[in-house]
Amino acid sequence: MKETIYLDNNATTRTAPEVLEAMMPYFCEKYGNPSSMHEFGGSVGKAVDAAREQVAAFFNAHPDEIIFTSCATESDNTAIRGAAEWYGREAKFITTAVEHPAVLQPGRRLKAEGRECTELPVDGKGRLDLDRLRAELKGTKNAIVSIMWANNETGTVFPVAEAAAIAKEAGATFHTDAVQAAGKLPLDMSKVPADMVSISGHKFHAPKGVGALYVRRGTKFKPFMLGGHQESGRRAGTQNVPFIIGLAKACELAMAGMEEENRRLAALRDRLERGILASCPDVRVNGDPENRLPNTLNVSFEYIEGEAITYRLSDCGICVSTGSACASGSLDPSHVIRAMGVPFTALHGSTRFSLSRYTTDEDIDYVLDKLPPVVHGLREMSPFGPDRAVGTFT
Ligand SMILES: *Cc1c(COP(=O)(O)O)cnc(C)c1O
Repeated sequence: MKETIYLDNNATTRTAPEVLEAMMPYFCEKYGNPSSMHEFGGSVGKAVDAAREQVAAFFNAHPDEIIFTSCATESDNTAIRGAAEWYGREAKFITTAVEHPAVLQPGRRLKAEGRECTELPVDGKGRLDLDRLRAELKGTKNAIVSIMWANNETGTVFPVAEAAAIAKEAGATFHTDAVQAAGKLPLDMSKVPADMVSISGHKFHAPKGVGALYVRRGTKFKPFMLGGHQESGRRAGTQNVPFIIGLAKACELAMAGMEEENRRLAALRDRLERGILASCPDVRVNGDPENRLPNTLNVSFEYIEGEAITYRLSDCGICVSTGSACASGSLDPSHVIRAMGVPFTALHGSTRFSLSRYTTDEDIDYVLDKLPPVVHGLREMSPFGPDRAVGTFT
């Protein structure tokens, strides 16, 4: 039996050994500065160029449309703040209620600075109503739209190509946080008319601390990081060469056999879902089963808290996550699950299982063996239940 069953891959992933191997020469041997004039640095510059071509291929885009960043949070901030600063005070910002904080928080800052901002609602399955987007765009000048490609908590996939087309038709700038889609869905920028797209290395087997922002040619934004001329003057700071090499390798690995791997993941995920539904009563699957990432399962165990499940599973060596974040002594349910209008009895029990290329059949067997007793045990202790009065816990 393995020591850790890691089903929290939407939080972060294991660095692939192939990625680490590709990175290694760039620490102690090829450590030149890619901007240097001498051959020692220049050869490193060529390696960064090759990495940029690889990441561009991942987007089916041009190498000059790729900016390397330190993480997706930086990519999101660059896209949203950068576009807003280009347009000045008039820019209207439109996003969704279920975005990652790396999009919601810059949006709220734009609002605090006096710009008009809207967070589009979702329905019970976490789906967007594109007519709401059309209505919000009506009569706008210089709108900036940011709609995630796939949701990190539920795996729900948004119709990003359609949303981008609607935004472009209205003359808006369109950004998408594709962190969870990267490596799981093809990001083909010849088919999706987005202007800017954020990805993060550590969500698909590169290390933490490297990301990229795709910027379509002609897109207007003001750089977020000011300083040197790196990244064609669009992101100052000496490039993190080893990690950029790693990001490119992760792109190459993800592109090879993506469809086949997705079929394998979806089969494992579906078996996990069926197993949970068969062994535990009062379970609700969150998200849109018709449009869901193949690796993600989010379920609510009614009447119990996701946090308790997470701790109990952790004792069995199983890593999952819950939408509840313990903040200042109170348990706040996930803003994503809350936005979907999930009933009170299930709001706090949301639990996310997210798989990766390293997840095996045995991992799923192990979880299906350990999880039901955990759920039954917690239900016995819970003051809530189908036949017990439902009070309020926040
Ligand atoms: C993890 C995540 C981020 C943040 O990525 P970092 O590289 O850790 O900054 C942004 N958006 C989504 C959807 C994510 O899942």
